[in-house]
Amino acid sequence: MAVHPATDTIAAIATAPGTGGIGIVRISGPDALSLLSTLFVPHRPQSSFISHRLYYGRVVNEAGQVLDEALAVYMRSPHTYTREDVVELHCHGSYMVLQEVLRTVFSLGARPAQSGEFTKRAFLGGRIDLTRAEAVVDLLQAQTPKSAQLAAHQLQGELFERLELIRDELVNILALLEVAIDFPDEDVEIVQYEQVVLRLQSAVLLPLEQLLAMADQGKIIRDGVKIVLAGRPNAGKSSLLNVLLREERALVTPQPGTTRDTIEERFVIRGIPVHLIDTAGIRQHQDPIEAMGIERARQKMRQADLVLLLVDASAGCAAPERELFQSISDKPTIVVINKCDLVDGHQVANLANSFPKNPVVPISAKKQQGISELQEAIYQRVVGDGADLCEQMTCAPNTRHRAILTQTLTAGQRLETALRDHAPVDLLAIEVQSALDYLGDITGLTTTEDVLDVIFSKFCIGK
Ligand code: GDP
Repeated sequence: MAVHPATDTIAAIATAPGTGGIGIVRISGPDALSLLSTLFVPHRPQSSFISHRLYYGRVVNEAGQVLDEALAVYMRSPHTYTREDVVELHCHGSYMVLQEVLRTVFSLGARPAQSGEFTKRAFLGGRIDLTRAEAVVDLLQAQTPKSAQLAAHQLQGELFERLELIRDELVNILALLEVAIDFPDEDVEIVQYEQVVLRLQSAVLLPLEQLLAMADQGKIIRDGVKIVLAGRPNAGKSSLLNVLLREERALVTPQPGTTRDTIEERFVIRGIPVHLIDTAGIRQHQDPIEAMGIERARQKMRQADLVLLLVDASAGCAAPERELFQSISDKPTIVVINKCDLVDGHQVANLANSFPKNPVVPISAKKQQGISELQEAIYQRVVGDGADLCEQMTCAPNTRHRAILTQTLTAGQRLETALRDHAPVDLLAIEVQSALDYLGDITGLTTTEDVLDVIFSKFCIGK
């Protein structure tokens, strides 16, 4: 991506809207320092502002009226977030004050920053690649400590460096092919096809496959999973939801069929955000409102990543459960046998045997027994074979990266086949170049302006 030094100066409130301890107005661009000199009066008069030093003073408007008492910092290019001159005014976190300070900054010549424009400048200025820029959004939107940690790693360049290693290997292969193209009549075989295949497999194809696996797990860690809790009325769905949430939010009642609609809650199981939906009791019922609730429950189940089918051990498994089970047979399902405190182990085992194809977890929501086993079963079912990877992952390619990584891998596999076939070197070089272009799309080297616009529009203003 070509570097475009910005000629204008942008400004925005960088802190979240609302009242806070402090609120920061951020300014970036060639006029940042002169704006600071105009609107900030240091407590001790200064002939100039030293870079990266915090000054105490007053922020004033065009008329010299005091707007706030604040701390100000000037950060000289290039050692700044955007690589441009940056000024930050740390004011009191009052919306009115911040708006007034910002209005003054605009009246002195800066323009409002667009969403993500500070980070976009950091990218265009070459301070960060596109994967690091995207990590900023992931970090801001992280729902769990694990996803925040992955975003922080990516911000440190974890994904970029892995891609660079793959890129280096492709560049080496390309260099070799180019020698062979330039000296077609050499007696010695310049391209040792088998050796290149081995290098391609170990340093390109395998790392790409690993990154794709991380992308799949990363999606789960970042976006979480949708779990639907289904079962007959009175099976104990609300009770289980409450136990999982560890607080009484859903209404628990001994009368069947009172959970008419769906209740949705979020919580975290071993670092995975879970979006749990408690459905209306599924049964044949004449009440039209309840019938609507039941239909919605079926809809939710269709959209779920995982269904928890709750069976009341004291009532046994009757036609409604079987019917329900049939209707979701294509969904990953865990059968949860509840109220095990009311029956003996024999009855639980018999009931479990009637669900031979699914994991079965006996629990008592009331006595809070079997809950950690259920959480473990959910985790295993959600992450599948990727449990170890999930624990060890240090970066999580996003959906955009995943799509391009797949294209890169396909190009790499085509190259592998062509090498095995001893295809002409110029043809091999085309495949290598195509894989290199894809990688450049991920890191931003060759990304188009439209794609950049989409990426940065996801940011908030001031970031
Ligand atoms: P829902 O209709 O499926 O949401 O069921 P509720 O959570 O409202 O529970 C229905 C009744 O079963 C309530 O009286 C709960 O106290 C009771 N219940 C729920 N779980 C258990 C359990 O594990 N053991 C026993 N003994 N009762 C339970």
